[in-house]
Amino acid sequence: MRLAIYPGSFDPVTNGHIDIIERAASLFDRLIVAVSMNAGKKPLFTVEERKGMLVEVTDSFRNVTVDSFKGLTVNFACEKKAVAIIRGLRAISDFENEFMMALTNKKLQPAVETIFLMTKAEYSFISSSAVKEVVLFGGCVSTLVPPLVENRLRDKYINCDYI
Ligand code: ADP
Repeated sequence: MRLAIYPGSFDPVTNGHIDIIERAASLFDRLIVAVSMNAGKKPLFTVEERKGMLVEVTDSFRNVTVDSFKGLTVNFACEKKAVAIIRGLRAISDFENEFMMALTNKKLQPAVETIFLMTKAEYSFISSSAVKEVVLFGGCVSTLVPPLVENRLRDKYINCDYI
């Protein structure tokens, strides 16, 4: 049983993330999509809300589960007996940070490999932050996120005092 984890903020999950999930799930026996609870960024959605959306959008992938973790990604990977950490790459700008993280994780836990999947061209410009900004200013994100995520974003901005 070869297991991988795909860690991230997923605030919220986008079509770019879903593409990576689908491709990683086809390479491993099991994939755990793991919401990181200690990102420096101030999230819009709670961990439970982010996990809930991930559970709904990954419902059709039979070998994918959703979890969350605090602390070091490599520790969570070891706890789950994962052989790999999956990360997505969109542009050169992602590279430096991802490269440093991968080297640090390798130093901490040599048995766990970081595997990078290159974004699909049509998703290369999608980020959770861009999606949030478009919705905040009334734009349409129906090609960037699943409908349920678009609805949750609209609800969030309607019910909160963000502007
Ligand atoms: P983090 O805060 O850990 O970067 P994100 O949710 O922003 O969390 O991203 C999680 C992972 O998904 C990262 O490896 C990121 O590069 C990747 N990712 C985000 N958006 C896309 C996309 N559109 N295409 C491919 N990979 C992506």
